[in-house]
Amino acid sequence: MILGKCPFCSDGDIEVRDKEARGKKVKLYACSNAQWVTEDGEFFELSQESKCGFRIWQNSLAKYGKWLSYKEIRELLEKESVEVELFSKKGNKKIEYKKYIVLDREYGVSVLWE
Ligand SMILES: [Zn+2]
Repeated sequence: MILGKCPFCSDGDIEVRDKEARGKKVKLYACSNAQWVTEDGEFFELSQESKCGFRIWQNSLAKYGKWLSYKEIRELLEKESVEVELFSKKGNKKIEYKKYIVLDREYGVSVLWE
């Protein structure tokens, strides 16, 4: 499945790939021009033929209780930012807040904390 155009190369599409990281199934939203030699969820090495290395892990914001959906990735690729709900814990309290996330060439996405 294709979710949109790659923001960092001219002819790549962002596609959904099924991966496993530490025994858990997780989606990787990756540029069609990117292929990795080792894909164990921890260490990546781009193959020599890869023209682009852009990817977003579905669980890249998991520490904020957020898994990125197809819909959010589509919107992110289209508008370059999207508002998401994040959570953090303070003691026993769960704090909910909304933040914008943006595309990040190195990390896939980053949160605008400002
Ligand atoms: Zn690309």
